[in-house]
Amino acid sequence: MSGIAPESYVAGKWIGPGTAAKSIMSPVDGSEIARAGGADLDFAAMRAFALDKGGPALRALTFHQRAKMLKALAGYIGSRKEELYALNPLTGATRKDGAVDIEGGIITMTVIAGKGRREMPDGHVYLDGEVERISRSGTFLAQHIAVPRQGVAVHINAFNFPVWGMLEKLAPTLLAGMPAIVKPATQTCYLTEACFRMIVDSGLVPEGAVQLIVGGTGDLLDWLGPQDVVSFTGSADTALTLRSNRNLLSRSVRFMAEADSLNASVLGPDVVPGSEEFDLFVKQAATEMTVKAGQKCTAIRRIIVPEAQMDAVTEALAERLRGTTIGDPAGDARMGALASAAQRADVLEKAAMLASEATNVLDGLTAPDGPGFVAPMLFRCADPDAGRTVHDVEAFGPVSTVMPYRDLPHAAALANRGKGSLVASLVTGDPQVARAFTLDSAAWHGRLYITDRTSMKEATGHGSPLPHLVHGGPGRAGGGEELGGVRGVLHYMQRTAVQGSPDVLTAVTGQWVPGAREIEGPEHPFRRTFRDIEIGETIVTDPREVTLEDIEHFAHFTGDTFYAHMDEAAAQANPFFPGRVAHGYLLLSFAAGLFVMPDPGPVLANTGLNGLSFQKPVSPGDRVHVRLTARRKTQRTDTYGEVAWHVTLYNQDAEQVAEYELLTMVAYEKP
Ligand code: NDP
Repeated sequence: MSGIAPESYVAGKWIGPGTAAKSIMSPVDGSEIARAGGADLDFAAMRAFALDKGGPALRALTFHQRAKMLKALAGYIGSRKEELYALNPLTGATRKDGAVDIEGGIITMTVIAGKGRREMPDGHVYLDGEVERISRSGTFLAQHIAVPRQGVAVHINAFNFPVWGMLEKLAPTLLAGMPAIVKPATQTCYLTEACFRMIVDSGLVPEGAVQLIVGGTGDLLDWLGPQDVVSFTGSADTALTLRSNRNLLSRSVRFMAEADSLNASVLGPDVVPGSEEFDLFVKQAATEMTVKAGQKCTAIRRIIVPEAQMDAVTEALAERLRGTTIGDPAGDARMGALASAAQRADVLEKAAMLASEATNVLDGLTAPDGPGFVAPMLFRCADPDAGRTVHDVEAFGPVSTVMPYRDLPHAAALANRGKGSLVASLVTGDPQVARAFTLDSAAWHGRLYITDRTSMKEATGHGSPLPHLVHGGPGRAGGGEELGGVRGVLHYMQRTAVQGSPDVLTAVTGQWVPGAREIEGPEHPFRRTFRDIEIGETIVTDPREVTLEDIEHFAHFTGDTFYAHMDEAAAQANPFFPGRVAHGYLLLSFAAGLFVMPDPGPVLANTGLNGLSFQKPVSPGDRVHVRLTARRKTQRTDTYGEVAWHVTLYNQDAEQVAEYELLTMVAYEKP
């Protein structure tokens, strides 16, 4: 298979390996797979190209346009995924391992795109939280916003997930509106390059939005500036070297790291052999040790069990692991090879360190010949309190250590001795055990994964980072955070607090802010199409009196005969009411009756209410009227969009009695 020559993509041009290219050797049979890197790349020019071309082109698009681009891109890569699967076994990974990488990457991009469409505005400014009222009468307000950073994101990725590793960082970056330079780990860069080439081939991404470095990063970090971001995944040592770069420190370049992690899996004190939870625990530990031959940042490295279950867990797990077939990843083996001979040497060296404190109960288990093959190793550590290396040394392969705990606080203390991890799991049938463990250990882990028989069938997997959830962890795990839906996008944006008048905030955010100028439209806004409605367009309705008969009628009609509406003395005794009052839902219904347009028109449906509050009781004889203002417009399909209306109800004394946001779907054309 020699002859693969992955290329860098620099300022719109493909650049092949240079004279100093490195050979990448097969972990399966030792043959040369590819030659990569060694070219003389102009890193300053790469950064300039991203800033001059990619950044402005991306920032010209709205969040929704970028989300659509990502969705199309994920679809395009999906349509060519077999080309990636063809290269996957060269990395040592089985097809199942490859699915985690390839499908996992595509799904992550799709989910992030969906979140962009649903949770971000169809504009250029993301609103972070609500308007802050910082003045007495509301003439001076504040709003936190987030805008794309005007630099480049440098992604330095690990060898173990060549596709997912690139796509999980690219999706939030591009959605944020930042261009990226991707630097994959050299050992598996040919697979990343194949996927990257698809992104370029797709024609979906603007020029300068993505570039690729095959090989080293040279002096790239020295060129970075205050608007740039570095996102790194790999070893803690490299993370330390990179984050100590003088230029990054002196210019406050945002740096995120996801590094090694001694992830723990804890068996609850309530779980006994023979139970569904016990079997789940053992199966999960075996899976996490052998998927990707244990080369997962989230793999289970420490198996923490009640003292009484040490033998049962060790024996059941050893039994399962002995049945793991190891072999050619292109065949039907359960476990393939480590990524390289160097990784194997590293794993064996780290295993030897663990052996100073623990015993490998699978000693003697053999793996096929070949530079990257290694058999699973299950260590048993009798005294984890005295142990150091078992909590400290990460053997990045199918290696894990079983250790006993006395009680739940001890289990949490052991889990926390990893000094910060990406994920810890707990198998328990007792929610109170889950609560106690969470309080003791959540601060040390980026994700807690708690399962029992009721959730195990649908549980997503200890080792699977999900695009919806944060991926990262404190301390040793790098102290960084990725993904987590929109949270992951915000890493590539700048949060800014904007202070100003309601008119200023309305202009900046594209959303009408109470107190800003109201516009009188040419006709009732419900007769206007989505295109015609202007932000700020307002109507004030006629008043309507609320009578005691109305309240009684509503009470008997709906069955809501709560005493505050029906019984004068009881209502008066309540601290909130002066006497009998109107139902809040009656007021909402009257409000709709005051502003609705009865005939068919552009308004297609009322799809919801946000932030409803009843602020002042309405008594029989009060007269209410409504003020309705177009607050926000969001395109949804080619034929209609969502209009959010700010609605306030007032009484005859101009006191606000209720407030909410009304959502309607409105057609682009008149019917
Ligand atoms: P490294 O930290 O060596 O490499 C990670 C990435 O950083 C690669 O792209 C590498 O490129 C790049 N890199 C290395 N040195 C520099 C530098 N000075 N400047 C810029 N980029 C650099 O990790 P490995 O991939 O070699 O794995 C080593 C160990 O790290 C594993 O055994 C495991 O313990 C841990 N690891 C943790 C992972 C996690 O997800 N938490 C993932 C992978 C590994 P290049 O390949 O070209 O050297």
